[in-house]
Amino acid sequence: MNTDVLIVGGGIAGLSLAWQLAPRAAVVLVEAEGILAYHTSSRSARQMQPSYGPAVIQELTAESIEAVRSISAELGHSILLPRPLIFIGSQADVAAGTAANGHLRPLGHAQALARCPDLRPDSFEAASLDDSAMEVDVPALLEYYRSRAVAAGALIITGAPVDTVQRTSAGWLVGAGDEAVEAPIMVNAAGAWADPLAVIAGVEIQGLRPHRRTAATVMTEHPVDPQAPMIAGVDDSFYYRPQGSGLLISPCESVPSVAEDARPVEADVYRAIERISTVTSLGITSVERSWTGLRTVAADGLPVVGFDPEAPGFFWLAGQGGYGIQTSAAMAKLAAGMILAPESPLSAVARALAPDRS
Ligand SMILES: Cc1cc2nc3c(=O)[nH]c(=O)nc-3n(C[C@H](O)[C@H](O)[C@H](O)COP(=O)(O)OP(=O)(O)OC[C@H]3O[C@@H](n4cnc5c(N)ncnc54)[C@H](O)[C@@H]3O)c2cc1C
Repeated sequence: MNTDVLIVGGGIAGLSLAWQLAPRAAVVLVEAEGILAYHTSSRSARQMQPSYGPAVIQELTAESIEAVRSISAELGHSILLPRPLIFIGSQADVAAGTAANGHLRPLGHAQALARCPDLRPDSFEAASLDDSAMEVDVPALLEYYRSRAVAAGALIITGAPVDTVQRTSAGWLVGAGDEAVEAPIMVNAAGAWADPLAVIAGVEIQGLRPHRRTAATVMTEHPVDPQAPMIAGVDDSFYYRPQGSGLLISPCESVPSVAEDARPVEADVYRAIERISTVTSLGITSVERSWTGLRTVAADGLPVVGFDPEAPGFFWLAGQGGYGIQTSAAMAKLAAGMILAPESPLSAVARALAPDRS
């Protein structure tokens, strides 16, 4: 089968790109698993937080929130829920975190307690607030990207792991399960497997490393206000937010891993419970479910987006780390623009994410 663009990976990166490309190019997306978004994209905390990440990520996040507002309008119901984010910690750490961040403002100790009465007053000295942060319905967003891509003519094939890639005069000939697909442009949206996929294609790797992160849903002794903000340690040692009638919690661990179907380690879940129990009086009583996903990062912590300088037609859309949900809409638009108009000069954001950035 021949196509204009072959996307490898059916997580949020690949699906959002298919949504952006399909109205303007022939697109085939292949996914190794039997279902879409089986790996990290279904294991997130579902947040879009403009204050989170370096400047280029903040820009893409703000743009993505606007895009998801438009998607909500098109769907006729909102898939965004305001979920303000409050960082707590020592005076020094909160001041340092707030200083250079245009989306955060200092929040007095009493104001923080007024907004979150379940916080233990002596567990923090200072707080800061991102009032623009949102929770997003990720399954609905993934389904939007998928359905719009298919409606525009994209072919999505699941259960099709790419295991052979050859360079041909026409571009790339890819063996994916029972399928053989040839395309001038191949997009690497393989998440934790982005570097292994490059190896299969004979392309130099980017040094992308998967890191484990665990989350769990827990029940509490006292009722949780469903409108309550998300609370995060400014030292990145925990976060929690309302989820159903309980909480979603994380110990925020970042442990290097091989690319695999990651599973939670019990000690990580209990560390989160211990840590969060020191800051809230809600009283965690039981764990409902826990899961672990892989956040894949480049050495400088920024995603890798753009054509490989040494392998014509090989496009990277990888290394989204902890930002893949909150940047997906804007990142897909950026990547589609680069794929459809490869001769156009790169924007400042595209230059910051380029595979050959120094
Ligand atoms: C606990 C946790 C909380 C998080 N919270 C947030 C959050 O609140 N907000 C946020 O923005 N981000 C968050 N993230 C990060 C976010 O989930 C990721 O950045 C994002 O899901 C990455 O998407 P992806 O499409 O690149 O990867 P994936 O979802 O892993 O998709 C890659 C796909 O490629 C497929 N694939 C790999 N190799 C091949 C091959 N050879 N052939 C065919 N298919 C292949 C895989 O099967 C997989 O389905 C969180 C992550 C974790 C773990």
